[in-house]
Amino acid sequence: MAVPKWNTTSSKRDKRRANIKIVPPTLSKCPKCGRAVLPHTACNFCGFYKGKEAINIMAKLERKEKKIREKEIKAKEMEKNASKPLSAEEMSAKK
Ligand SMILES: [Zn+2]
Repeated sequence: MAVPKWNTTSSKRDKRRANIKIVPPTLSKCPKCGRAVLPHTACNFCGFYKGKEAINIMAKLERKEKKIREKEIKAKEMEKNASKPLSAEEMSAKK
């Protein structure tokens, strides 16, 4: 077995270990529900990716959970729409 000729000095070892750290994952916001999601990944909460439904989340849920989840998603969408000012077309469509 190969044996190192010299011991690694504490300085050299510590300088190497200075770069070993836990990096927090980069998260982006889901455009549909506003939750934090990993980039290039379908949202775990609503199952949407790039504006399309990628995973049918609702199929796996029980009836009670389904109701709660639908309510939350709807509330988030309403909140998003309320903060966004209406365009001229939307204004004329509403009466
Ligand atoms: Zn989502």
